[in-house]
Amino acid sequence: MTHEELTTLSGKKLTFGIGEPRPENDLWYGSALGVLSNHAGLDVSTEHGKDTPKRFIAMLDELTKCKDCDGSCMKWKVFPSGVDQMVVVNRIPFSSVCNHHVVPFVGYAWIGYIPGGRIAGLSKFARVVHHFAKRLQVQEELTQQVADFLDEELEPAGVMVVLEAEHLCTTIRGVQTPGTITRTVVTTGVFADHTRTAKNEFLMGIK
Ligand SMILES: [Zn+2]
Ligand SMILES: [Zn+2]
Repeated sequence: MTHEELTTLSGKKLTFGIGEPRPENDLWYGSALGVLSNHAGLDVSTEHGKDTPKRFIAMLDELTKCKDCDGSCMKWKVFPSGVDQMVVVNRIPFSSVCNHHVVPFVGYAWIGYIPGGRIAGLSKFARVVHHFAKRLQVQEELTQQVADFLDEELEPAGVMVVLEAEHLCTTIRGVQTPGTITRTVVTTGVFADHTRTAKNEFLMGIK
């Protein structure tokens, strides 16, 4: 079988079978191919490896699909309401991608708020978390962004967001501490007031 050769930036030679499907998007395919072959030993001459650069790009696009999103994915809607008691949405699963290492961090979000004249549909809270999670992220900033969005949109008496996640960049590489969970907390309004009971009530509710 005849082959053609491609030299990567680091000088490594890669061979393709002539007639094999070639990348439609050469620039991105070539970049992914270079990284994966030089740093992960990817062999694109095998059945398993030949489409891997394309899958790798598609995976990154999927994991960061809200990087350019205008927020319409959240289908955000609020309703006027006289409810003034705490609403807690427990244990919303989410996954995001670490901005420093481009590997996932996976966990749960807990959101509590005390309405100040409007409420949102309960499914919307998961959508808000997912919208801000589906991009390269830092957990501390993700937590803040979710809280800021809810604070602005709901104008509640207060909002509290807790995120707990396992970061693969600390569990499978680097310090390698599987099972370590990072917790981040952002409070606004009455939740930020430590003399009030809102924060304790919320924390009791999520145990
Ligand atoms: Zn990381
Ligand atoms: Zn989005």
